[in-house]
Amino acid sequence: MQLNPVTKGVLEGLKKIHEIVHNDLVGNRGLTYKNGSIGITTLLGCHKKYEFSKEFGRHETGPNITIDDGYMFENMFGPHFQKAFPKAETVHHDPDIHVTLDDRYEITMHPDFLLEWAGKPEDPNYKPFSVILEFKCPIILTTSYSFDYKADQDWYVDVKDEVHVDPKYLLQAKIQKSLMEIYYQDNDQPNRRVFQYVVGKSTAIVQSKFKKIFVLKPIIESFTRRELVEMFIDWEKNPGPRAGYECPGCNFGPNGTKVCEGMPYKGDAIKNIDEDTLDLIRRQNEVKAELELLKQEHDNIETTLKKKISGNFKHKGKKVGWVDSTYSTVNLKEAYKLMGDELFDFLSIKSKTRDSMFNTINKRQAEEKASNPDYIPVQIEEKKKGRRFETPKL
Ligand code: SF4
Repeated sequence: MQLNPVTKGVLEGLKKIHEIVHNDLVGNRGLTYKNGSIGITTLLGCHKKYEFSKEFGRHETGPNITIDDGYMFENMFGPHFQKAFPKAETVHHDPDIHVTLDDRYEITMHPDFLLEWAGKPEDPNYKPFSVILEFKCPIILTTSYSFDYKADQDWYVDVKDEVHVDPKYLLQAKIQKSLMEIYYQDNDQPNRRVFQYVVGKSTAIVQSKFKKIFVLKPIIESFTRRELVEMFIDWEKNPGPRAGYECPGCNFGPNGTKVCEGMPYKGDAIKNIDEDTLDLIRRQNEVKAELELLKQEHDNIETTLKKKISGNFKHKGKKVGWVDSTYSTVNLKEAYKLMGDELFDFLSIKSKTRDSMFNTINKRQAEEKASNPDYIPVQIEEKKKGRRFETPKL
């Protein structure tokens, strides 16, 4: 697309600022890993990537709007914790927590915030406790249809598990909670309780409308030490991408330094789907049907109005009814002669006519080949594998 020089200049300037903001957000975080230990994000990613980063240096991700938004959200709240929780004995931002699972596996984690409350020596039944907060700014938060949210409400505590957060965030938080419990057990505080929350800030779909909300999502369960070790074993035994986006965005893969050819993503088939998610799919189908009815009603009203209003009239300064207008049809052949390939920037192929277009191209190429043996057909269509989200009628 041709941009005018001012727009181009503004875009370039903004991209530079984005780069600086991103570097400030990431560069100053200074996360450290004790020799030989790995981080939770690494454990949740491709094992080959981990091996390559030991040889060729860290896998760099570059600016990512969703991750940068998460850092900004964290930085916005960070300076105010001590004031907001005056009774907390300690408040840590991105602390290094190092846990030795067994003689093979060590992990270092950096929870966004760790708050610790001391025990009460005068009350032996009172257990000290810690709170871990992991801040996330996902692209969107979907909710069950029964999600009880008031229009003027900013915060929602998701005790009924009605807000759908990326399962990877929940798994990361569950691992954090488990490691923290193990950390306290290994450091002479077996009685300390750990409360873990994901704090989300995003747009949520609330009863078919969009709202910006904060969500506080408690993580109840945790893994045992044995289960975490098994997670490591599985990670080592099954190298390869753990999410569909890993290879295309990997520094070592075909789009990066090419030291790795990439590996097929085996998919993330979900074994157990909860009733709320099924409810949402059913509701989406209902809304689709309602939309279809509304569209039909809209078309019927328009047909009736066209018959009722033969000319036009003015209402509150606006012309209503049949008004003169100009339609254009474009001679694409002539336009192509003048514009060349630039014309394609202004065209889009309609999905309805796509198949017949490719059939015609294939037929023409076959005819050309039949009449000219030296003709080498140019590949017009390249089929790529992707993913599509389907919500069939349930
Ligand atoms: S390209 Fe894919 S398989 Fe290779 S290291 Fe990167 S994520 Fe792993």
